[in-house]
Amino acid sequence: MKCWHCGTELIWGGDHDTEDNEYYDMVSNLSCPNCLTAVDVWHPSEKLIKEQEDYDKKSKKKKRKKL
Ligand SMILES: [Zn+2]
Repeated sequence: MKCWHCGTELIWGGDHDTEDNEYYDMVSNLSCPNCLTAVDVWHPSEKLIKEQEDYDKKSKKKKRKKL
């Protein structure tokens, strides 16, 4: 994965389990050795994936009304 800012390949710093976060169960920390940008990648939990699937099914059946 490349740095958003400078395109240098990011260095993976580690994975951490999240606490008190029902929608994301893991976060990976990456950093850029060139410009020092830090990137967190949040891994979706099964709950979030399930809710998204349910939402997709509903939105296919019925178009959402504009607010
Ligand atoms: Zn960079």
